[in-house]
Amino acid sequence: MVTRRDFPLTGKEEPQSHRNPARSISAAAPFERPSVPGGKPAVFLDRDGTIIEHVHYLSDVRQVRLLPGAAEAIGRLRAAGFACVVVTNQSAVGRGMITEAQLGLIHDEMNRQLADAGTAVDAIEFCPEPPAIADRSRIEHIDRKPGPGMLFRATHALGLDLDASWMIGDMLSDVLAGVNAGCRGSILVQTGKGLDEAEKETAAAFHVTEDLAAAADLILAPSLLS
Ligand SMILES: [Mg+2]
Repeated sequence: MVTRRDFPLTGKEEPQSHRNPARSISAAAPFERPSVPGGKPAVFLDRDGTIIEHVHYLSDVRQVRLLPGAAEAIGRLRAAGFACVVVTNQSAVGRGMITEAQLGLIHDEMNRQLADAGTAVDAIEFCPEPPAIADRSRIEHIDRKPGPGMLFRATHALGLDLDASWMIGDMLSDVLAGVNAGCRGSILVQTGKGLDEAEKETAAAFHVTEDLAAAADLILAPSLLS
């Protein structure tokens, strides 16, 4: 079991400590993994509370606001060769609260704000499935985080190397999606909803950073790139 490590890391870190815990931390994902060895590395990014401000059941484009430093962090990750892929659970669609067309407008607005800041994301994957249970560590549908399906779809489409890829998000289901996809590491950011008390013990196995900018610092730290 790895332990939580706060940034900054020193050059003395054991490389294994940067890796995700064993997949057994969550329900095992018996799904075919489409990773491309030697392919492009990715950073999979949660949307709400990670890239844009968390709004409960975001439905109006006027509520879309980039979090401070998020666009700049995405720009740095892409400049370093990472594909940046948004993977977002959107149960509001499955519940009939917003349409896919409305969701598209929200993503258009996020993309417009990213473009204004001089960057972009490489792909956006969403899952409309609503949950039936409250436990965020259990896979109910392969596409709904913590299921790895959205990460796998992007991996297949973009030829990504999951072993060299990372997952960043503000919820336990985000970091566990990274585990279930077999990503190199998962990072929790503290710009979103926060964790339930019961989730904190499981979350202690992961890196925690203040925000997306600090998570990018961690991924791009020279001690991790060697
Ligand atoms: Mg979130």
